[in-house]
Amino acid sequence: MIGPQHAVRAAGSSAGGAHFAFTDRWGGVSAVPYEELNLGGAVGDDPAAVRTNRARAARSLGLDPARVVWMNQVHGRDVAVVDGPWGDAPADVPAVDAVVTSRRGLPLAVLTADCTPVLLADPAAGVVAAAHAGRPGLVAGVVPAAVEAMIALGAEPSGITAYTGPAVCGRCYEVPEQMRAEVAAAVPASWSETSWGTPAVDVTAGVHAQLDELGVVDRHSSPFCTLESGDHFSYRRDRTTGRLAGYVWLD
Ligand SMILES: [Zn+2]
Repeated sequence: MIGPQHAVRAAGSSAGGAHFAFTDRWGGVSAVPYEELNLGGAVGDDPAAVRTNRARAARSLGLDPARVVWMNQVHGRDVAVVDGPWGDAPADVPAVDAVVTSRRGLPLAVLTADCTPVLLADPAAGVVAAAHAGRPGLVAGVVPAAVEAMIALGAEPSGITAYTGPAVCGRCYEVPEQMRAEVAAAVPASWSETSWGTPAVDVTAGVHAQLDELGVVDRHSSPFCTLESGDHFSYRRDRTTGRLAGYVWLD
């Protein structure tokens, strides 16, 4: 284990009592190839290092690490409604790709390394959600499912603020031609081309189109492409690597 080289840097924003934050890879204790702030528990890293990293990241945001709600992400569209942290056993964490809560002060977290992390909040209604949208989740509609779950708890699309975090961009995410066609058939806005002229998918653009269609107009996007940024983990670039996290919570 190496010592900390940096402080945790989480790019954060607040709106009406809702808080949104995305980590980068610095400020943790994990060794190569997970250096430094790997927050993923299922990627082969030392579990003690991940625990330390999760505690550091939470405290840097003013959060109690024991209260953070994580997911067992499986590239599906299932949503869990939560009102407190899961139990400590891995089996206690449900296999879902979105979590929603109307509990104030309960932080929800999503792990990514190229997939698009999506944070949603309707502070007036007191409802927040975190979702994991890779290419399969985009096609399956996990983000619309999360918005529907928020609406069921009293949220209004016009009251929702949405943030998408660091993810592989549409100029880098190369896929076979047929895959691009299949994804674009489901979500036309995801059609893209790499900077070298081959078929690509823009998951973040697709997520924003899905949100727009639902009437979520207050949307913000991270400027970072994980594959191009040395400050972020990228599965497509490095294969064995760490996971970034996005956090959303209400005062
Ligand atoms: Zn890129």
